[in-house]
Amino acid sequence: MKRSRVLPLLVGGVFCVAVVSFYRMLEMMQGAELQHSGAPPAGHLDESVFQDLSRLQLKIDRLEHLLTENNRLVATLRNSLLQHKASWETRGRGGSNSSADPAHNQGDPLPGCRLADEMKGGAEGVKLLDVYDLLPFDNPDGGAWKQGFEIRYQGNEWNEQPLEVFVVPHSHNDPGWLKTFDLYYEDQTRHILNNMVLKLSDDSRRKMIWAEVSYFSKWWNDIDEQKRALVKRLLEAGQLELVTGGWVMADEANSHYFALLDQLIEGHQWIQRHLGVKPSSGWAIDPFGHSPSMTYLLKGAGLQNMVIQRVHYAIKKHFARQQTLEFLWRQNWDSSSRSDITCHMMPFYSYDVPHTCGPNPSVCCQFDFHRLPGGRVFCPWRISPQPITKENVEERALLLLDQYRQKSRLFRTSVLLVPLGDDFRFVDSSEWDAQFSNYQKLFDYFEQHLELHVKARFGTLADYFAAQQRQLRSTGANLPTVSGDFFTYADRDDHYWSGYYTSRPFYKRLDRTLEATLRATEILFSLTLAEMRRFRGDGRLVDDFPAKEHFGRLTVGRRSLGLFQHHDAVTGTARDPVVIDYGTRLFHSILNLRQVMQSSAHWLLLLDKNRYHHDDSKPFLLMDDVIAAHDALPQKMPLRLSDEPRSLIVFNPTEQRRSSVVNLVVDSPDARVIEAESGRPMVAQISAVWVEPSRASPETFQLSFITELPPLALIVYHVTRAPTGSTPRARYVFLRGGEAPTVQTKHFSVSRPQGPEANAPLSLSNKHIQIWSSGHTGLLQKLRLQSGLVRQVQVQFLWYGTRTRGDKSGAYLFLPGEDGPQLYSSSEPPLVRVTSGPVFSDITSCFRHFKHTVRLYHLDGHAGRSLEISNTVDIRSEVNHELVMRLVTDVSSGNRFYSDLNSFQMQQRRTLSKLPLQANFYPMTSASFLQDDTSRLTLLSAQSQAVASLRTGELEVVLDRRLQQDDNRGLGQGVTDNKLTASLYNLLLEDRKGGAQEVGGAAVEHLSLLAHLASLSLSHPLINMVAHSAGLLPKLRPFQPVSSSLPCDVHLLNLRTLEDEQEAGSPSQEVALLLHRKGFDCSSAPEPLPQCTWSVHEEVDSADLLAPIRFRSLRRSGLTLLRGDDEDLESARQQQQRRIISLRPMEISAFRAELD
Ligand SMILES: [Zn+2]
Repeated sequence: MKRSRVLPLLVGGVFCVAVVSFYRMLEMMQGAELQHSGAPPAGHLDESVFQDLSRLQLKIDRLEHLLTENNRLVATLRNSLLQHKASWETRGRGGSNSSADPAHNQGDPLPGCRLADEMKGGAEGVKLLDVYDLLPFDNPDGGAWKQGFEIRYQGNEWNEQPLEVFVVPHSHNDPGWLKTFDLYYEDQTRHILNNMVLKLSDDSRRKMIWAEVSYFSKWWNDIDEQKRALVKRLLEAGQLELVTGGWVMADEANSHYFALLDQLIEGHQWIQRHLGVKPSSGWAIDPFGHSPSMTYLLKGAGLQNMVIQRVHYAIKKHFARQQTLEFLWRQNWDSSSRSDITCHMMPFYSYDVPHTCGPNPSVCCQFDFHRLPGGRVFCPWRISPQPITKENVEERALLLLDQYRQKSRLFRTSVLLVPLGDDFRFVDSSEWDAQFSNYQKLFDYFEQHLELHVKARFGTLADYFAAQQRQLRSTGANLPTVSGDFFTYADRDDHYWSGYYTSRPFYKRLDRTLEATLRATEILFSLTLAEMRRFRGDGRLVDDFPAKEHFGRLTVGRRSLGLFQHHDAVTGTARDPVVIDYGTRLFHSILNLRQVMQSSAHWLLLLDKNRYHHDDSKPFLLMDDVIAAHDALPQKMPLRLSDEPRSLIVFNPTEQRRSSVVNLVVDSPDARVIEAESGRPMVAQISAVWVEPSRASPETFQLSFITELPPLALIVYHVTRAPTGSTPRARYVFLRGGEAPTVQTKHFSVSRPQGPEANAPLSLSNKHIQIWSSGHTGLLQKLRLQSGLVRQVQVQFLWYGTRTRGDKSGAYLFLPGEDGPQLYSSSEPPLVRVTSGPVFSDITSCFRHFKHTVRLYHLDGHAGRSLEISNTVDIRSEVNHELVMRLVTDVSSGNRFYSDLNSFQMQQRRTLSKLPLQANFYPMTSASFLQDDTSRLTLLSAQSQAVASLRTGELEVVLDRRLQQDDNRGLGQGVTDNKLTASLYNLLLEDRKGGAQEVGGAAVEHLSLLAHLASLSLSHPLINMVAHSAGLLPKLRPFQPVSSSLPCDVHLLNLRTLEDEQEAGSPSQEVALLLHRKGFDCSSAPEPLPQCTWSVHEEVDSADLLAPIRFRSLRRSGLTLLRGDDEDLESARQQQQRRIISLRPMEISAFRAELD
């Protein structure tokens, strides 16, 4: 049936149902009336009144119920009308062709896209992409302010509105860099904080800000109650301000928004619990470039203002000229002012004292009294500071005032922010005295000389922003709106910080493994506690379940992930021993979280809950893989099979029903898998486990089977040894440059074509895609979709070297050699291994430095639509080399491509020839795509790395880098601790219709639905557990907490148990429910459509969301779940009755919930 007929019929049908229901409602109400009038008179007056009241109540209840029903009906009607209207509009725009298009034949398959589409309206004001187009990037010498310009003033500018200076003392404490977190704490940080309490208490005019809660909380544990009371008093008095309040000052390029938010929650929750305050200003002076995803989270956490520092010097200069260094930072996709946050960009080169008082560092350095002669630090500009005396105070004060005045000219108000600090400052008591007493003398001088029209004092960020806002209000001035991001950062010349997007890729991957493990554990643990309370019926937990210990493990996991988001951790820019320290923390956290997951799953799966017994030394369930050390890749443990079934448990941590392949290693080439509950046999395949590229293990085999897992479910399978030859085995073809390689295997059929036959292109296909690869290298060449769309997609590998003269690449910088990248070549042809089987087929190319596999899964539905690409890279033999995987395609993308920011949103990138090669590399956390009018090619990744599209149709990612030297940013070493490193991708080609108005597309684009679903599965792999032995096992039953998938565009970001407010270190009954409604691209619709629902409205019924899970209470809160941000109880109660929550596209919503 044609769509044009289906829709009116559908709408008509719904309308009829509605009318009938209305009629029935009226009838029921009348019936209720009739029953009433026909009721016999009551004997006693009291009783009759009581009965009447009861009836009235009953009636009201029924009415209320009917009204709810009515509301639902109206909503359904409205839904279908809107769908109809939207489809009418699409038809109007798309012309008659679109009805013949199969993707559009199902009557508006993607209603949810409409909402996302509205988000393309985009932000107003300054767009950073346009600024990049505009600027010449010519780097002229600006004089005293080398990267800027000469700032002039008359001197009378402040007569009306005096200059108001806030000198903000700060100490930048890296939670690990040259020293480990603990060592820094011992050597510096604890002294800084101890002195802070004393020195601030000495004089109420003194102030200080502190950012890193990881350090603050560690120190808090060490100090006594008296000191704690002093800290609280300083906070109350506004002398001390906790800024940002995150666990760390997070990196904004490599970090995933899950982890960014999680470390912010951990920090804010700690602050609320122990200090009872709420941060209002952000402070990010050292992250190497800035992302609007972070500002989104800060705004959502209730912050009003923020300060950033590391921005490309040319952008700073431009912003300074335009007086836009202070602006309202808005999300690209937001056409309202909802996401705006006031942002102050520091104008000069650095956050140290020489670069914060004004444009001239040689002058400002003289006002860093820690550099007084005789100390350990000095001024490189060769003019030392002098202690302020009666004799020199006038000259010194005027010299400083000149800098303040010049700096002030770059801003729209006469309120001036002057940070005073540096890395690990204010350690010694004498340093405090030197800074505070000398500055106080200068301030006092200003105070006594009204003719100077300046008031200067110590301040916090809160002080500064309050004064700034006051003045903006009083003068009626506005700050401009800016949207976009601040990547890629350059601090000087052509020194672009794009190297750290990839440095230490092994740990960037481990970071995401911990992240996925943490999220899965959080959800499973929260569900377990709720189930236990329901089971017991008295709100308490099962005695034997170590809830408190597990909550402790979760807390350590959260904090390890949080610590690793630090801008020298996930960035790969710490010294070797510090990297090992981080790695060990991540590794131990994964092991600890696995324990929580195992015992939670154990309890959930038991049919007879009374048989639950917890034994730490002998867990009932174990993971099916082992990670041997912090720098080792996981290894699957072989499962011993017999005729007795082994129980395998698979957890689907995603909120979507999911067709997937489960992989195990077993000790038999014949195995059978059934789903325990239904007894249904699974389609399986046995493949070889390759010990070497052409030597198969004789004892172990890979068992892969296809399954469909309900959302958030734990499903039990039984695996048994099967009769010989009963399980389909993979078949292999081996190639090596036309010669027949030696292959060792006795269980698999192998063919080794030779001669011309061996050089023919290889081809694999499933229902959706066909691929062709080179017979010589095995590398992908071409892709064809079932729809007929064909794209050349050639996979290449390349090397970048570094410069032969001057500065070279290091942990931070990418400074490629003058001759650019060189195609990877090897003296001997690679071994190519082709696998074919009923579950998956793949092609593996084994080169000296890497193993590269492209795999196709034979899955029905949308899950089989993308290619899985995996690499294992080892460049430990190389010197100053970076290995790149490049896709060379015929997608006409021009100079535009898209990369994600923290996996939260997509950002358009323009490759500019006026910029050096290294400037055109951008961070990629999880996705990147190229597109033209008819197609889009998306590369999804499971780890962060650098990405670029240096020529039209090309997309490249940096896989690993090994660099022998330091790049002069303070680290003092190269990056040579490379490991055997894995990387994982999905490659997705899609038809694109009617979406492209210009080459490369609109400035605001989203991933497609298919890409979102593929990315979800890639980032949150299935988790396999096995019951410890084949002995007598208690009966297990599957656990399926929710009856259907969440709406396609709603992601369950987390279900995070909150800490008990009375009992420290224990789980409370409350969870943080974090939902992220995603924006989707609507120019292509997957076919078949995934099995999930849509809503075209912002309003969603919370009762449907995780049904049958119910919420005893559900209150909207800020993103970090601070009590003060909770929706008030009254409106929560109203909401409870309506159960309707609003979820806006692109936005994350946080709720404080109690699960029933
Ligand atoms: Zn730092």
